[in-house]
Amino acid sequence: MDPRALSIYLKWPLLRFGLIAAGLIFGVELILMWALPWILPPGAPYWIGAIVDASALAVICGPLLWFTSVRPVRRLAILAAGEYVQILDHAADAIIVIDEKGRIETFNAAAERAFGYAAKEALDHNVSMLMSSPHSQDHDGYLQRYSQTGVRHVIGMSREVVGKRKDGREFPCEIHVSELRTAGRRLFTGIVQDISERKKKQAELQEYWDQLATKNDELETLAQQLADLNTELSRTARHDGLTNLLNRGAWEEGAQLEHERHRRYRHRYSILMIDVDHFKLYNDQYGHPAGDRCLQRVAEAIRQSCRNVDLVGRYGGEEFVVLLPETELSDALVVAERVVVAVRSLNIPHERSKTASCVTASVGAAGSSSTEGFEPIVKAADDALYEAKKSGRNRVATATQVEPMVAATASK
Ligand code: GH3
Ligand code: MG
Ligand code: MG
Repeated sequence: MDPRALSIYLKWPLLRFGLIAAGLIFGVELILMWALPWILPPGAPYWIGAIVDASALAVICGPLLWFTSVRPVRRLAILAAGEYVQILDHAADAIIVIDEKGRIETFNAAAERAFGYAAKEALDHNVSMLMSSPHSQDHDGYLQRYSQTGVRHVIGMSREVVGKRKDGREFPCEIHVSELRTAGRRLFTGIVQDISERKKKQAELQEYWDQLATKNDELETLAQQLADLNTELSRTARHDGLTNLLNRGAWEEGAQLEHERHRRYRHRYSILMIDVDHFKLYNDQYGHPAGDRCLQRVAEAIRQSCRNVDLVGRYGGEEFVVLLPETELSDALVVAERVVVAVRSLNIPHERSKTASCVTASVGAAGSSSTEGFEPIVKAADDALYEAKKSGRNRVATATQVEPMVAATASK
């Protein structure tokens, strides 16, 4: 039974008690007053009459009142208190009621389980015995400050604190404290929930998340590495490993596109075929690794002589090819001469060259024409290169005529 309902249940027994008591006392007293002169010997003192009257009243009314009113009321009160205790003990959470001084007044079964104390060990002791340091030392101060200033620390809110069991073990718990005033007293009810399991699960979840985050980072790194590898792979697939220029396949792809543009929009382009002179002799003299280094420097010199939009590739061996978009043959010849000068200016010694004392290159140039593909133009440039070789190397030749080197001719 809800203790709050007790007053309703007691209302009628108490009313009955009052009415019966009043009626009984009135009736019995009436009879006694009437009968006393007959019962007492004549001339008996007045106080004897009063004692007999009071005793008879008590003997008659006492048992009657006990059986009709007090006993039922008492039984109801005991029942209500018993139910209240049972409800407390069936609660899943620990319920602890303390007074203003922090003394424990109620300690339910869940509290016994959570803190390891039997109720009788906890009742009347200070609640700080259930707390870990520093709260155990500070708790009395909190209560005192609250009663003096009304400043709350935990009252009316939920907080996570650390509880202490009888065996000294500490455990995380969530506590909700509320204040109640009853019969002029101020009490505090604490509902305590052991959250060890929840904390454990949270920690496991956190660990799981951390692992997931680490795996995610690893995955992102792997994905990045893969993307880098892919980029590198596609770059490697399109570039020559020694000179880093476009390889023949990639160059031809670009050249085909440019030729399509030329056919559709009549855009002009030119092609330069570049070949290092007497390179076999260079290898023979300085060795293949030195030949490789020489090719790298020549390739870089060719690249530097061209614009960013030009397609510069290694056509094979010591042969290079450049496609110059939007370039008339006359302008291409300027670039071609620049290439010859640039290679010559590297000043790489070539003792056995029959052309100069350093490494030189010959260039064949050809301009675009309305052919089916770019191959005939490459062929024309190659023919021009042959012409340049034939007429002394270290120079530029066009498909139709040989252009003698202007700036960098240096015969041996
Ligand atoms: P020419 O002036 O007529 O072009 O004479 P050349 O000796 O340059 O021409 P040839 O075709 O006779 O020789 C080309 C040489 O280039 C032969 C080959 O060993 C060398 N060569 C081709 N590719 C490479 C390479 O990747 N590295 C090195 N070190 N040498 C290469
Ligand atoms: Mg050569
Ligand atoms: Mg060659």
